[in-house]
Amino acid sequence: MAVPFRRTSKTKKRMRRTHLKKELPGITTCPNCGEPIKPHRACTKCGSYKGKEVIAVKEAE
Ligand SMILES: [Zn+2]
Repeated sequence: MAVPFRRTSKTKKRMRRTHLKKELPGITTCPNCGEPIKPHRACTKCGSYKGKEVIAVKEAE
C-alpha cells in the first residue's frame, strides 16, 4: 500500500482547508442593498425584487 512520502505541512493542510467553509443554505444577497435575503422573495430591507421596488418598506427612523 502506498504511503505518503512526507508529512503534510501545517501550511499545506491549512491552504487545502481554505476551500472548506461553512455556507448557509438558501441564502443569497440582495443585488440592490447587499443584505442577505432568501431567494425568490422580496428583500425585507429595501423592498426590491428583480430590480424593481415591489413593497413599501417602513423606515425605522
Ligand atoms: Zn435589498
